[in-house]
Amino acid sequence: MVHETGYYDLLGVSPKASTDEIKKAYRKLALKYHPDKNPNEGEKFKLISHAYEVLSDPKKRDLYDQGGEQAIKEGGMNSGASPMDVFDMFFGGGGRMQRERRGKNVVHQLGVTLEEMYNGSTRKLGLQKNVICEKCDGYGGKKGALEKCSTCKGRGVQIRVQQIGPGMIQQTQSMCHDCQGQGEKFNAKDRCKNCNGHKLERKKKILEVHIDKGMKDGQKITFHGEGDQEPGLEPGDVVIVLDQKEHPVFQRQGDDLVMKMDIKLAEALCGFRKTIRTLDNRSLIISTMPGEVIKHNDIKCVQNEGMPIHRDPYERGMLIIQFQVEFPENHWLPEHLMFQLERLLPPREDVMITEDMEEVDLCEVDLNSQQKRYHREAYEEEEEGPRGGVQCQTQ
Ligand SMILES: [Zn+2]
Ligand SMILES: [Zn+2]
Repeated sequence: MVHETGYYDLLGVSPKASTDEIKKAYRKLALKYHPDKNPNEGEKFKLISHAYEVLSDPKKRDLYDQGGEQAIKEGGMNSGASPMDVFDMFFGGGGRMQRERRGKNVVHQLGVTLEEMYNGSTRKLGLQKNVICEKCDGYGGKKGALEKCSTCKGRGVQIRVQQIGPGMIQQTQSMCHDCQGQGEKFNAKDRCKNCNGHKLERKKKILEVHIDKGMKDGQKITFHGEGDQEPGLEPGDVVIVLDQKEHPVFQRQGDDLVMKMDIKLAEALCGFRKTIRTLDNRSLIISTMPGEVIKHNDIKCVQNEGMPIHRDPYERGMLIIQFQVEFPENHWLPEHLMFQLERLLPPREDVMITEDMEEVDLCEVDLNSQQKRYHREAYEEEEEGPRGGVQCQTQ
């Protein structure tokens, strides 16, 4: 039994969620609350990362389910990984070592339709990024014209002494604004006019994202070296994460497509021919065998009409159809015709009615209040512990 659900609530999943559901929830939230996109939500980003770190590890999740946050702390299960580490591990940003020599990766989410993943498609994505200034090659001004910063005397930091009370002095140190902490700067006439001495300029870059047939929700497409440029650093990557939009008809399960199909009672009993519009706009005809009966919730499949397999697009999964039989409403048939219908249906079983039986009313069930009752009963049962009576019976 789950005592605490705080971590699940943070990720917006149920305590019964599968590993995939937890991953997906983290992916969406982490991208939404990443400091690059949402600088004011640092705390939330931290909480989400921690919740994911615990719930994505079966051992830690088990511990959390049994003893909550307390157990995680006491169990020495706090890895001390920073939210950024968790994020980089998930989106494949490389380790800390790599990050020192390289600029950071930028992760973007791209919403795609199931049709795009079925047929393949190319999307153009316009991104703003920092590039080394073309005019000065990232030098910032005229070659050889760099001078020692007079404001900070070349130290790159400014020290300010402030009197904060009688006889009390506070000394603060901050980066020199005149030279951006470099200790050197160009004077106004030598400074590059294009980047204003910042060595970098903002440029719009169009990326062509190729969505291959059969790609999946959450799949990453990496553009190596397309991240922000910085002098002296190898640029990081741009990582595009595919986010599949819900489809009104088809749900995807791995390489299979699943759909529900409503059929009338007459079709369920007497057979049917029906059409299905595929994701590439073909029409399939499905029909029952003569004499075949389809029951409510019966499942059938069409081979090779599911999703294309990534990198092997001539192979496809299955199309799985779940039938929902629509029963007619009350009084659909005048009573005097009922016996005609009954004559055609499989015979009913006779029931013996005797004097000692009791006639009771058959009522509608209010499902909501019923569920609440079940829930309470289950809870009370657990409090009592296992019942001894069961063992006695089996002796
Ligand atoms: Zn300075
Ligand atoms: Zn420049």
